[in-house]
Amino acid sequence: MTTGILALQGDFREHAEMLASIGQAAVEVRRPEQLDALDSLIIPGGESTTIARLILRYSFTEPLRAFCASGRPTWGTCAGAILLAKQVDDLDRPGIETMDMTVARNAFGRQVDSFEAGIEIGGLDGKPFRAIFIRAPVIESVGEGVEVLGRLEDGAIVAARQGNLLATAFHPELGGDTRLHEYFLTIGAAERPRAGAGA
Ligand code: GLN
Repeated sequence: MTTGILALQGDFREHAEMLASIGQAAVEVRRPEQLDALDSLIIPGGESTTIARLILRYSFTEPLRAFCASGRPTWGTCAGAILLAKQVDDLDRPGIETMDMTVARNAFGRQVDSFEAGIEIGGLDGKPFRAIFIRAPVIESVGEGVEVLGRLEDGAIVAARQGNLLATAFHPELGGDTRLHEYFLTIGAAERPRAGAGA
């Protein structure tokens, strides 16, 4: 089982460290051909306009869409969530456009560039997840097949899932809580043949 982390720009190293800390093999993905060998993929936070530009430049658009359509778990965090969304306010070029939700970039304004909040996340046991938001987007609305997993106190949606697709507006790779990475690795696990189980 290998998880890829799209490593064009942004927080890919922090995700790799988080995965290493829970014993999950991870590779940094810089070429579309690398996607074939992966079981799951994380699209990290960073600057969504920059990542979108690099996705176009390195011909990642169709391979990433095909990866998501293949049913393999794909998780967009912060800028990565922006790139997964079918509709985005204020992104000047296309992203992956696969998850049925509308996302607004930089939703919290300049005054509160970054903040932390405890979020109850569906599927996670124990205490609220201490989520770090950095110039974060918000999920303004979701389509019928999308399950809302977490909201801020004011009701704003900050975590959602549509089948194999997961989106979080915050940075789960910061703060040392591995529960969301562990949760991500359970997505689709029941359907995947176990390594060594034979064909
Ligand atoms: N503000 C960034 C964007 O719109 C996202 C911020 C982040 O990933 N921390 O791309």
